[in-house]
Amino acid sequence: MQVPTAQSVVFKAMCPDCRGRFELTAPALRLAIGRTARTTFYSFTCPDCGASVRKPAGQRIVALLTSGGVRTMRLHVG
Ligand SMILES: [Zn+2]
Repeated sequence: MQVPTAQSVVFKAMCPDCRGRFELTAPALRLAIGRTARTTFYSFTCPDCGASVRKPAGQRIVALLTSGGVRTMRLHVG
């Protein structure tokens, strides 16, 4: 049984382009928090095909990513 630390956390992700499934570490992900759910998303580059993937992030995902040490960018809109 291993206790996960911020550095060992991996996030499971899927690429909509090549449908590849993989695990990403915190530095591979970026989170952008906007004022609404519509402008809150996380992004990463697919390690398989190199596509830039952007997906909406709900509250649960935001909490998961931030607690996992993912770099967060706050969007100031309006
Ligand atoms: Zn891909």
